[in-house]
Amino acid sequence: MYQAKQKANDPAAEICQRVWMSIAEKRLRPGTRLKEEELAEIFQVNRARVRQALSILQSDGLVVIQPNRGAFVAEPSVDEARDVFHVRKLIEARIIERLAGRLSPEDFPRLEAHLAEEKAAMARGDTSEGIRLSGGFHMLLAELSGSDFLTVVLRDLISRSSLITAMYRDRHVSNCGPDEHEGLIRALRAGDIGAAQRSMREHLEHVEHELDLSEDGTAVRDLRQALL
Ligand SMILES: [Zn+2]
Repeated sequence: MYQAKQKANDPAAEICQRVWMSIAEKRLRPGTRLKEEELAEIFQVNRARVRQALSILQSDGLVVIQPNRGAFVAEPSVDEARDVFHVRKLIEARIIERLAGRLSPEDFPRLEAHLAEEKAAMARGDTSEGIRLSGGFHMLLAELSGSDFLTVVLRDLISRSSLITAMYRDRHVSNCGPDEHEGLIRALRAGDIGAAQRSMREHLEHVEHELDLSEDGTAVRDLRQALL
């Protein structure tokens, strides 16, 4: 959902994008209740649209819908955070392995262009865009690996780790960022798959170690304040 740019005239996509940005900017905290009625009023849409948006957010792992209680911003546990990064290390090692001998010279300008966008977002301090683009870099590698299966699995993991990163990092700028991505591109360009795999594993370990798991989780309960 937030991997894609916001589509014009799509109220559900706009709601998803705004909720995501508020989570990434730490204005909307884990566990905050997302009341349908209030969201409908804030975004000036009907409740069917709000339900559609909440359902997309639920399938991305960002929102939990509880029967008879409503929707809440998901609260991934510390254990889930560790599991997500554990599985990412396995999946992304396989993606790099598949990239061996598959990457063509035309793929590198795409990777470099993505890197330039990441750097620009970081330079202007755009946190939500920075996290979105960081995830997008890993998705681009998955796409270039040519495996639809790995791409689908990774999309789910990236979505969850973006929420985890947004929740548990105490600094604003994502460390899953341009500098380490640049090193990875260099190893891929040199055709050194072993170095690229090591670089990816160290990169993901670095991101995981940067998580602040002592977060107090104080929730902002005022949706209007968080979303407007
Ligand atoms: Zn990264």
